[in-house]
Amino acid sequence: MKTIDELLAEGVAGKRVFVRADLNVPLDGTTITDDGRIRAVRPTVSALAAAGARVVVASHLGRPKGAPDPAFSLAPAAARLGELLGSEVAFATDTVGESARATVAALTDGQVAVIENLRFNAGETSKDDAERGAFADQLAELADLYVGDGFGAVHRKHASVFDLPARLPHAAGGLIATEVGVLKKLTEDVARAYAVVLGGAKVSDKLGVIDHLLEKADRILIGGGMAYTFLKAQGHEVGISLLQEDQVPAVQGYLKRAEELGVEFVLPVDVLVAHEFPDLKTKAPAHPTTVAADAIPADQEGLDIGPATRELYAAKLADAATVFWNGPMGVFEHPDYAEGTKAVAQALVDSPAFSVVGGGDSAAAVRILGFDENAFGHISTGGGASLEYLEGKTLPGLAALED
Ligand code: ADP
Ligand code: MG
Repeated sequence: MKTIDELLAEGVAGKRVFVRADLNVPLDGTTITDDGRIRAVRPTVSALAAAGARVVVASHLGRPKGAPDPAFSLAPAAARLGELLGSEVAFATDTVGESARATVAALTDGQVAVIENLRFNAGETSKDDAERGAFADQLAELADLYVGDGFGAVHRKHASVFDLPARLPHAAGGLIATEVGVLKKLTEDVARAYAVVLGGAKVSDKLGVIDHLLEKADRILIGGGMAYTFLKAQGHEVGISLLQEDQVPAVQGYLKRAEELGVEFVLPVDVLVAHEFPDLKTKAPAHPTTVAADAIPADQEGLDIGPATRELYAAKLADAATVFWNGPMGVFEHPDYAEGTKAVAQALVDSPAFSVVGGGDSAAAVRILGFDENAFGHISTGGGASLEYLEGKTLPGLAALED
């Protein structure tokens, strides 16, 4: 894999360089609530600009349906990138149309442009190789070189991630190099004890990684929405909590294999429950009650780990040497359900372990909840990407950067 330093050494002055970034930031209307992903790619963009490249930055944002949708415009991210760079950033209002071609043609050496959300074009995410390829052909016309630095998207076989680097001389950006370096520390010669904390809402996405981690980790702590599938697998009723019923047999299998392998599974002993999901807009008080994990009322749902679980998890993390954490412990967006996520973040801050936080929402959570990101070993910009790497899968966006 060619590094960006090697590319810079070859000279990029006057060249149009397409940077596939991950500017998929959380938005509240047009306000960016966490700009971590933009800050993470800034060094790559500024190094290219400083070397005289004409930089074309591209990304997806959210899940528009293959057509323009103003709710998913990259305009706020482009503006923020300009602030971080301290220079004007041009913005094209389409991806491969007239605006993009004119904007790129108008760039002078050292200037930066952002083109509109790649997913406004159905070719970006198409399962059809020809349709994706046709879009990649159009993107390739905008540039002479390609730099892959959108770590959060490397697990996607998408046109800008997989097909475009096959059409242009390419290199890996600094962010991808850093992320892969960190993930190697979690898969090769891991410092023990190795604890993994999994939570969040995308249960089925995350169950896959457990299979692989059973061979690697010493301890697996479960919180967030996925905890209820585990509690159900142990024979407890979970009321109206998030539950993936069809995964219960698989989870029972994991629990059994963990026992055979001597891997410790730690599940919540108490949870915060309420009759309804909290209002995340008004953040009106939710008045949850704490119940034992085996006593969730039939008409209520679990929305955070409880106080006894917070203490238990902090203790289980205190003596770990390596920790990987993906997924909030509860609905942290509401203050009444943020304590579990805070407790895990605090345990990592307090522990001398090399700690990696992965996952878009998890990374945003630690910053939104006020933690200093430097207190963690690494905050990854990729959720699905880091999980699939840990699962041992080949990531299309990394494979495409190999030669
Ligand atoms: P990440 O982006 O870090 O990988 P996910 O996207 O899987 O994490 O999950 C984050 C979401 O999970 C948050 O929006 C949070 O509100 C939600 N969540 C956490 N715990 C629960 C729960 N018990 N029930 C429902 N949603 C939950
Ligand atoms: Mg998420």
